[in-house]
Amino acid sequence: EYLNRVRQWRGPGRTADGYSEQLLANVGNGSAAEAAAKGESEGIGLFRTELCFLNAPEEPTVAEQAEIYRSVLAPYAGRGGHTHVVIRTLDAGSDKPLAFANFEAEENPALGVRGLRLAKDNPNLLSHQLDAIAEAKNGLDVDVWVMAPMVATVSEARSFAAECRKRDLWPGVMVEVPAVALKADQVLSEVEFFSIGTNDLTQYAMASDRLSPHLTELNDPWQPAVLSLIQMAAQAGLKANKPVGVCGEAAADPVLACVLTGLGITSLSMAAPALPAVGLQLGEVTIAQCRQAAAAAVSAPDAVTARTKAATILGA
Ligand code: PEP
Ligand code: MG
Repeated sequence: EYLNRVRQWRGPGRTADGYSEQLLANVGNGSAAEAAAKGESEGIGLFRTELCFLNAPEEPTVAEQAEIYRSVLAPYAGRGGHTHVVIRTLDAGSDKPLAFANFEAEENPALGVRGLRLAKDNPNLLSHQLDAIAEAKNGLDVDVWVMAPMVATVSEARSFAAECRKRDLWPGVMVEVPAVALKADQVLSEVEFFSIGTNDLTQYAMASDRLSPHLTELNDPWQPAVLSLIQMAAQAGLKANKPVGVCGEAAADPVLACVLTGLGITSLSMAAPALPAVGLQLGEVTIAQCRQAAAAAVSAPDAVTARTKAATILGA
């Protein structure tokens, strides 16, 4: 019966009392974007560009990159409204090293030169990619947002935004490093949006390797400390009237999705198959319940209590 209701769910995302929560898809290539566009997604919240180049021995040319990016944008073109596609610049390094970007072995790759940090020694990598994104969107009727992974400081956000604006691209940054959540107002003043990567934000907040099978209790986005960091980022967004989404796995947990909505997160992005269960759950609760569940979860003493309290308030 539940599965039937999940199958029958139709977007867009909203609570029982009509509060909108944008539901977006995470993709890694054009065919995933095409599939997501046929379903209930309202756009793309995370295109992980590095996944296109895991086997590339050399940096793909601007033209080659543009063709791939266009294949992700095209399925959402001409939809109007608030349809947008968020392209993330290369998150190379750590668990996703690229042959043409990560040259040196590192002792602690998760804390090393990954994501936007690569641009410091190799600025062409970023400028070529932004050129390719600008070329890809040429003539397509879809809003393209561009964000950088692994940002840690206000000045990194500022220089990334400047590079984007040179090409008329709408810049944002990911909130993955706790430093950015702690300085959310200042960082957000440099860009147009935030997208919270809860996988890495949890790993860095709890100092627990996201790949370790021994640390799953710590590596839990229900950890109240992680929820507090998410709340800081969300509140900066509400104050500045700028969108703050979540694009980590946390968004795909239907109960946590309600808590994130209650915290003021404006969009939830996840693997497309997870969208109907989240949409269905949101449709069964009010925004007041979401806010109450969020307050209870943030102030809980531990992750298990946070989840239990939230689920009780949400009747889930
Ligand atoms: C995240 O860290 O939550 C995220 C969305 O990025 P990735 O999983 O690709 O590191
Ligand atoms: Mg990440």
